Amino acid sequence: MKIKELIDAMTLKEKASLLSGDGWWKTKAIDRLGIPSVYVSDGPHGLRIQDGFEANINDSRQAVCFPSGTGLASSFNREMIAAAGKVLGNECKNEMVDVVLGPAINIKRSPLCGRNFEYMSEDPYLTGQMASAYVSGIRSTGTGVSVKHFAANNQEKHRMTVSSVIDERALREIYLAAFEEIVKSAKPDTLMCSYNRINGVYSSENPGLLNGILRDEWGFDGLVMSDWGAVADRVKGVPAGLDLEMPGSNGINEEKLIEAVEQGDLEEEAIDRAVERVLRLVDMHTGFISRPEAVEKKRKRLGFDYVDDHKKARLFARESMVLLKNEGALPLKKDEKILFVGEFAKNPRIQGGGSSHVNCTKIISALKASSRVTEVEFVQGYKLTDDENEDFLIEEAVGKAAGADKVIVFAGLPESFESEGGDRTNMRMPRVQNRLIRELGKVNSNTVVVLHNGSPVEMPWIKYANAVLEAYLGGEACGEAVIDLLFGIANPSGKLAETFPVKLEDNPSADNFPGGLTVEYRESIFVGYRYYDKVGKEVLFPFGHGLSYTSFEYSDLSVEKLSEDGFDYKVSFEIKNTGALSGMEAAQLYVRKKGSKTFRPVQELKGFEKLSLRPGESKTAVIMLNERSFAYYNTKINDWYVEPGKYEICIGSSSRDIRLMTSIMLENPLNAEAGTDENMLPTYYFGDPAKISAGEFEILYGKTLPCEEKDKRLTLRNTLEDCVQTKWGGRIYKFLNVIINGKAMFKGEKGKEPGLIMEAPLQSMICMSNGRLTLKDGNAIVGLLNEENIIENLGILKNAVSREMKKNSEAKKALKEKQKAIKEKQKAEASENKNTSEAEKDTDD
Ligand code: BGC
Repeated sequence: MKIKELIDAMTLKEKASLLSGDGWWKTKAIDRLGIPSVYVSDGPHGLRIQDGFEANINDSRQAVCFPSGTGLASSFNREMIAAAGKVLGNECKNEMVDVVLGPAINIKRSPLCGRNFEYMSEDPYLTGQMASAYVSGIRSTGTGVSVKHFAANNQEKHRMTVSSVIDERALREIYLAAFEEIVKSAKPDTLMCSYNRINGVYSSENPGLLNGILRDEWGFDGLVMSDWGAVADRVKGVPAGLDLEMPGSNGINEEKLIEAVEQGDLEEEAIDRAVERVLRLVDMHTGFISRPEAVEKKRKRLGFDYVDDHKKARLFARESMVLLKNEGALPLKKDEKILFVGEFAKNPRIQGGGSSHVNCTKIISALKASSRVTEVEFVQGYKLTDDENEDFLIEEAVGKAAGADKVIVFAGLPESFESEGGDRTNMRMPRVQNRLIRELGKVNSNTVVVLHNGSPVEMPWIKYANAVLEAYLGGEACGEAVIDLLFGIANPSGKLAETFPVKLEDNPSADNFPGGLTVEYRESIFVGYRYYDKVGKEVLFPFGHGLSYTSFEYSDLSVEKLSEDGFDYKVSFEIKNTGALSGMEAAQLYVRKKGSKTFRPVQELKGFEKLSLRPGESKTAVIMLNERSFAYYNTKINDWYVEPGKYEICIGSSSRDIRLMTSIMLENPLNAEAGTDENMLPTYYFGDPAKISAGEFEILYGKTLPCEEKDKRLTLRNTLEDCVQTKWGGRIYKFLNVIINGKAMFKGEKGKEPGLIMEAPLQSMICMSNGRLTLKDGNAIVGLLNEENIIENLGILKNAVSREMKKNSEAKKALKEKQKAIKEKQKAEASENKNTSEAEKDTDD
């Protein structure tokens, strides 16, 4: 049967049911029509298979944890990240996961975003290239991906409700460009829409974004699923292009869809289009239509080789770390007197918190790994749980440091600082660690800092550190990789995929992050180095920076035009390893437009190539350029546009270490106007984009800026945070606590209330409550919050509590009985075994 025939055979109810998940991690099966489920599971830097809704977010099945997105991107190595994707894809296959939920590729607008560790870069070109390679690697194994979070989900604060206010050019050039590259070149099977709104419209019901840009413009023919609980209005979402709601809403949204079709508010064809995409995805991964013989074979969990994948995790981690500074203390030598200081030497922070959290099989610390190389001494130095100065710990460390040849301080951000569901409020490391490093640096000029963090930190101690190795969140083999790099067993080759500003205030979004109901992206296209370069700001470490234990010389730049028309160029240059050690160099190509009619960044990354070179060896690096390498998004013609004129091609070892440069002249018969006017937008052209007034931003935005206020009357779209402000809020909070708190997404680490629950709209909570809350309960909550029909609504909620208590006690009883039955069975088996072995003994006698 073909997909179209199958859809014709389906009832409206069946169609609607297929458009939302079966629980948390799979699509619905329809037995009557032989439609199986597909399974999805979290990634992106290791598998997080959570068994059902009841499980705690951190209690997933054991898997291997690779370096997180920031690190993988810092490798600047497409082959390596593709290899990492392949390993992950194979793990998924063997664990019967059809689609892995990742990679996560939102742009790092602010260093404070709590999920920066999962994201790749501040630069859309680098993100697009690295994520495409990752997706291709995963997909080469037959495993699907869900590239997330589409789009402009650049903060965690109020992520389920905030509206990102972005001008069209920034949206296209910065926030959508990486998605565009991946859709066009790696052809992912699914995308996950984000929670937030963009310019007032939820991504989950945004026809311009999902149907317009994604499908009509970019040609995406896969499926769009919602982020977990991101559906605002399901009836608007289906025709807008959101195919699959995840997780299932326990029938709530299915009923809404059926009702809308029956009342003529929604065309059934819109439902059919979404159903078709779900069926295509199911067929892609199960073959139930195109390869029915495959479905017959019962799938089995094969497991995977943890030991082998751990070894690969170590190789990936080595390339993901960045040597930020080295005045000679590194590499370490085995016969030196080495002192390790700090908790992270024993217990490294290897990953961030939230839905990407992997339950690792084995974590090897740097301290343990060092014992395979040489003997080192260890002192505690600080306590992770304490931000106050522990004078005696610092004194002890300083005392030992004075007598050591080299001091290695393992420092960084404690886990609670960076997680999904919350942003940092500053860029500081714990005070106690800052003081410790400074004190150690004062007594030992060979103090080396190894950092464990997912996003930039301020380094007020930098002049006291002889060397700094940014280990990021390096995955479970992070300790071994750190030792490999510290001792020169491997040569560092990572480069920063983001700028490290000197201080938070230097970041262009500092005054407009995280906003309130809306967040204005006033800096527009001037994100990351695009900003720092424009205003010539000093930075701590620039984008693309990363040192090696060897040195490289660049020469012989040549640029060849590949065709008479068009903008295709081949750029080549030589790189020579001029040092004594083998190493890898990620050379970067930046394009600069001189004398543009519009405002533009000073330079933009448009190519990179990583080469591996032995001492004395030279190789040719080749980078191809095309139309997009020179274009900007012109809002006058609503298209990408290459201005005629002079362009500089710059080759560098970092964005601020340009080694070679040449220029070319481009012609374009299409003489488009700029789309912007320097008299209207003087600060964007000539000033500091961190200081844009509301008025100037409004001109760029092209519409009146939204000025949102919360409605006095609460609805299901309000959050628990809104509810607790009202007279009945406290009681509602307790009510929800009784009914859903402690379950899956609502449960944080022990004793901690995740921001998630306070900032989730009531409606999302209800839909994701696995049936614990009904729509009737939700409406009663809203009624009470608005002080309407109090007696009646209280009655509904009381009934809900008794209903859930009853269910809980029945479930407990059933569990007890099950446990009892298991015990009895085990007892019976044990006594049977005993009898058999006694009987065997008797026969032997
Ligand atoms: C996250 C997604 C994740 C999903 C499922 C959401 O809260 O934003 O990235 O894939 O949960 O765990």
